[in-house]
Amino acid sequence: MTIKETADKISSGKISASENLKKYLSGIDESQAQLNSFISLSKERAIKKAEEVDKISADLPLKGIPFAVKDNMMLEGTQTTCGSKILKGYTSPYTATAVEKLERAGAIIIGKTNMDEFAMGSSGETSAYGPTKNPVDITRIPGGSSSGSAASVKAGQVLGSLGSDTGGSIRQPAAMCGVVGLKPTYGLVSRYGLVAFASSLDQIGPFAATVEDAAIILNVISGYDPKDSTSLDIAKKDYTKDINKGVEGMVFGVPEEYMGEGLSDSIRERVTETVKELEKNGAKIKRVSLPHTKYAVATYYIVAPAEASANLARYDGVKYGYRSDNADELIEEYIKSRQEGFGPEVKRRIRIGTYALSAGYYEAYYVKAQKVRTLIKQDYEKAFKEVDLIISPTSPTTAFKLGEKFNDPLQMYLSDIYTISCNLAGVPGLSLPAGTDSAGLPVGIQLTGDYLSEEKILRGARAIEGLYNKS
Ligand code: GLN
Repeated sequence: MTIKETADKISSGKISASENLKKYLSGIDESQAQLNSFISLSKERAIKKAEEVDKISADLPLKGIPFAVKDNMMLEGTQTTCGSKILKGYTSPYTATAVEKLERAGAIIIGKTNMDEFAMGSSGETSAYGPTKNPVDITRIPGGSSSGSAASVKAGQVLGSLGSDTGGSIRQPAAMCGVVGLKPTYGLVSRYGLVAFASSLDQIGPFAATVEDAAIILNVISGYDPKDSTSLDIAKKDYTKDINKGVEGMVFGVPEEYMGEGLSDSIRERVTETVKELEKNGAKIKRVSLPHTKYAVATYYIVAPAEASANLARYDGVKYGYRSDNADELIEEYIKSRQEGFGPEVKRRIRIGTYALSAGYYEAYYVKAQKVRTLIKQDYEKAFKEVDLIISPTSPTTAFKLGEKFNDPLQMYLSDIYTISCNLAGVPGLSLPAGTDSAGLPVGIQLTGDYLSEEKILRGARAIEGLYNKS
């Protein structure tokens, strides 16, 4: 079932939101223990919300749709942990704007999804609440950091979910699990109520089974919010309107830097095949160059940890969540609470970030990284003068085995080599499933567009989805 079909059924009275919810809740009861896609469930709250929705006579875009939200977004009265021990038991004092918009549109939020701790990771394995499993093959990672948001949609536990993407955390897990994931233009969706990782890169976006469903969710969550100072004050659009217009006359760019060394052969084949099919369907194909791509991972791993080290300074054992019992005085309490509350990957990022921002190193690392960031942005500006969309793989490999890269941070960081540039530039990107590799694992294709070109991206993605559903 899709969001569209289910919302229509509920709006026309064929099934009630409450009956529909019951089915999904029992599905989750069966699969949660195996997948570990949720950190917490709010079943009673969801049942009450469904009853409320059943009393509304108007049609709503997400009427009665079972939904999940990554556990770094606030939902008043429910726990928000960010996958960390340091926020265990922390209750959200208010609701994030994007989440509030979902509920106003009729969505039923069932629970908060598992994630890499503070959204740092590409495999789901840094969560303090245990790893999420990939529903396609439970011996493999679902990708990260929005691991549970991707897995829950793939497993049919919910019909849609929200994730956050700082360097690929929506698109990469979407690729690993075989669902659609969209990182909107920076500022298109309010970040109010999203726990900050790297504020200049973070963006909330949807996961869904189909491109159209992702567009329906974007319609709901996008829009200006005075509570987020980086929110864009632009007119609302209907992202579903042009979705079926096809690719006739559209120009797709293939970046040479994304097709070379390190990319698995089967993914390269899928991308090449897809490009050929697009051409047959009337699209024009051009080679483009994004020459600064090779610096993207290095730049990101200065900028993101620098911002994280500042954002995570607030967890002092006093104001939020976990407090150590092993300290006798205040400074020791700060230190012990952070030592015991944060996991190893988060500590690594705080250390890198603090170092990069410290006196004497700030110019050499942080300022330099910001300059390279501008060059990466200019690569896109040049490319989008020539092409409508850039088509590439989402990640260099399909889902790897749990544990395979856990002790090799550099290999883990390279999972995001094709997704990070988008965040550095602030442009939108979408991953959609494009067949499988020889082991039957989902392959993700990424479409990137210029600022606020979500309509074009969704239109291109819908066309590619059509190609794969035909064959
Ligand atoms: N995997 C990247 C990281 O670990 C990206 C994470 C994200 O987008 N939140 O930082």
